[in-house]
Amino acid sequence: MKRIVLLGPPGAGKGTQAEGIAAKYNIPHISTGEIFRANVKEGTPLGIKAREYMESGHLVPDELVCELVEDRIQEPDCANGYLLDGFPRTVPQARFFDEFLEKMGQELDKVIDIEVDEDVLIPRMVGRRVCRQCGRPYHMITMPPKVEGVCDVCGGEVYQRSDDTLETVQNRFRVYNEQTSPLTEYYKEKGKLAPVNGDAGISEVFGAICALLGE
Ligand code: AMP
Repeated sequence: MKRIVLLGPPGAGKGTQAEGIAAKYNIPHISTGEIFRANVKEGTPLGIKAREYMESGHLVPDELVCELVEDRIQEPDCANGYLLDGFPRTVPQARFFDEFLEKMGQELDKVIDIEVDEDVLIPRMVGRRVCRQCGRPYHMITMPPKVEGVCDVCGGEVYQRSDDTLETVQNRFRVYNEQTSPLTEYYKEKGKLAPVNGDAGISEVFGAICALLGE
C-alpha cells in the first residue's frame, strides 16, 4: 500500500518520474494537469472552466480541483494506493486532502519533493516542443526534430504548447513560489517530506526516489 504525493517546481520531471513509480508500485498515476488537459481537449464543462487559468499559467480554483481529486481517489483502482502528481498545489488543497484522508481513515506515506533550481528549469521548459499529432516530445536544444517543425515519427506539426512560452513559464514559477512552495514546510512539519535532488539523470533520480519509498 503506497499513498504518495509528488512535489516539485514546473518542469522538474514529475510526470516522467510518476510514470516509473506508478509502474513499479502498481498504483495509478493521478495527474491533475493531465485530467484538466483531457477535459480542455474534449471541451467538457470542467475543461471550459479550467482553460483560461491553465493557458495563462495560473492555478485552477481550489474547489474545482479538490472535488475532482476526491472523486478520482475513491475509484476502485485506488484501493491499494495512488500517486498524486500536481496535487496538492496550495496549502488549502493540502488541508482539504488531510481532512479527506482522516475521514477515510487513510494515511499518506511520503511526499517526494523533486528539487531543481529555477535557473536550470526555465530554459529547459521554454525549449520544449511536442508533436500536435502523436504527442512525441522534442527539445529545441537537446532533442530537435530532424526537420524544423516536423515530427520525425509521424510527420505531424511540432509546436510549442501555450503553457511553455517564456511569459507563461515565468508566471508558473511565480505561482509556484507563492502558492506551492509553502507545501514543503507544511509536509516537513508533518514528518512526511522526502527531498530528492532532481538535477541528475532520469534513472538516477528514479533510483533515489525508490530508495526513499522502499519495497
Ligand atoms: P501540470 O501538468 O501539473 O503542470 O498542470 C498544468 C496546469 O493545470 C497548471 O498550470 C494549472 O493551471 C492546472 N492544475 C493542475 N493541477 C492543479 C492543482 N492541483 N491546482 C490548481 N491548478 C492545477
